[in-house]
Amino acid sequence: MNGPSRLSTGKSSRPNPGPSMQAYVISGLPIIKEGDDIAALVKSLFNFQDGDVLCLASTIVAKAEGRFRELSSYQPTERAQQIAGQVGKDPRFVQAVLEESVDVLLERPFLLVATRCGHIGVNAGIDQSNVGEGRILLLPEEPCGSAERLRARLAEGRAESEGEDDGEKGNPPAEGADCAVIITDTCGRPFRSGVAAVAIGWAGIAPLFDWRGERDLHGKALEITLEGIADEIASAANLLMGEAGDGTPAVVLRGLNYPRSGEGSAFMPEDKDVIRPRLKR
Ligand code: GDP
Ligand code: MN
Ligand code: MN
Repeated sequence: MNGPSRLSTGKSSRPNPGPSMQAYVISGLPIIKEGDDIAALVKSLFNFQDGDVLCLASTIVAKAEGRFRELSSYQPTERAQQIAGQVGKDPRFVQAVLEESVDVLLERPFLLVATRCGHIGVNAGIDQSNVGEGRILLLPEEPCGSAERLRARLAEGRAESEGEDDGEKGNPPAEGADCAVIITDTCGRPFRSGVAAVAIGWAGIAPLFDWRGERDLHGKALEITLEGIADEIASAANLLMGEAGDGTPAVVLRGLNYPRSGEGSAFMPEDKDVIRPRLKR
């Protein structure tokens, strides 16, 4: 059997992303409210297969997790008021950003902070678009945990036999599948124009692909190449999600060979980051 059910398991096997992949928008998702069961919703709209990568805009994961806040519920401190003046934002919004932050890297011309999960982003990734007037939406509290829970839900009901007899009886009922889940957010990028999505949470996939030790075309061993595959997948999916009123926050990539487990994080460890300390000077 070829295709997505034959997955690379990381360093031990030669990397082979595969000759092609498909991307599917899951259409028909409603406006997500607190408590909505995203796993059940996507399962009802899409027949998942083992090896699929489900990409979800962090916005809908956050909505389902009830991460809405009323702007009016924040009491800005003096510091928040001072920063608000510099960045031209509502002091209550700045207060929300500071409360979601563990480290402030830039206070102007925009507020760049590190969040508890390790993600560094402008305004702590707090959204005011696609949310509703007077409200803000925080990022999911622990995006990798959210991805892991969604992945477990997608796998529920999966046959132990790994689907050996599927396809024989017409349309098989929607069953569980062994998928990876990536939670995306659209971000600005240092040194580049234009926003793109990155992975802020992931499960069932190693966020980095380790090419070290592989040979280049001339036989020279690669020494330092860690490929940020979770971000690359997030960006590919984001192309189909759109940024405005499309209502398409879920995209499935199929056909991609990816490492399912491995060391590392999509977030640069603080002690290896050479830019972060310079920003803070
Ligand atoms: P972010 O990148 O996670 O901040 O999310 P965006 O606000 O850019 O939205 C990404 C996609 O999800 C766009 O197509 C939005 O229209 C869509 N979207 C956002 N919220 C919802 C929702 O509650 N339901 C549906 N169906 N789509 C949504
Ligand atoms: Mn966002
Ligand atoms: Mn977006």
